[in-house]
Amino acid sequence: MSDVEEQEKREGIWNGIGRGFWNLLFPRRCPICDQALPAGQEAVCGACRQYVSPLAEDIPRCRKCGKPLEDEEEYCLDCQGKRTSYEYGYGAYLYDSRMQEAVGRLKYNGRKEYARIFAREMYERYGAWMKKTGAQALIPVPVHRKRYRQRGYNQSALLARELSRYSGIPVWEDYLLRVRDTLPQKDLSPGERKQNLVGAFQIDPVQLELKPKPECVIIIDDIYTTGSTIDACSVQMKTQGVKRIYFLCLCVGKGY
Ligand SMILES: [Zn+2]
Ligand SMILES: [Zn+2]
Repeated sequence: MSDVEEQEKREGIWNGIGRGFWNLLFPRRCPICDQALPAGQEAVCGACRQYVSPLAEDIPRCRKCGKPLEDEEEYCLDCQGKRTSYEYGYGAYLYDSRMQEAVGRLKYNGRKEYARIFAREMYERYGAWMKKTGAQALIPVPVHRKRYRQRGYNQSALLARELSRYSGIPVWEDYLLRVRDTLPQKDLSPGERKQNLVGAFQIDPVQLELKPKPECVIIIDDIYTTGSTIDACSVQMKTQGVKRIYFLCLCVGKGY
């Protein structure tokens, strides 16, 4: 064994021991129920798997937003008769009460490590689709500077980074900016949601110079309800010549 190999082996053992101690002190947690997982595990726990599983692909779903449909319509009530700047997209989970709590922890309680498990769940279902779209970039929905300072991170960018690692599609974190601090969409009616986002997003002029003009991008976000946030982002990118815009979210929920 060469010196380098020996050193690598020694370091490997120490890293292994270090990781073991680390896991003992700070066990990984299930991203949905927040309970500690058995050592070495990093996934949705068995108990949560019984109640929450990613949306099946073979059920009737809205052709625009991927929400499950109760009848034989093509579109859900949120999407019926609506024109959007984006093509269509998917959410991995239905936004039910469990996922609402889970996303709350990811977003407001500093559990940023959950992004890794959630992104893996998203990629397992939609990785092949992501590649098929031919997207040149993943665009996380940006947060305003003020929110970023409060929270220390943007949960959508964390998801996008992980999805980029899996898919090889680059993530452009600074391309789209949130230039106006808006009210949380969840407290507003569909009409107010649209109004709330007027002038909220802008493509960074510096990035516009630096980056190639993409034909196709995928917007990444945590929750999709009526689609007004994704649409407001898409409008900005369409005016800059992006031809096809898709989205991939962790959850889709009903806005009506
Ligand atoms: Zn769990
Ligand atoms: Zn829909």
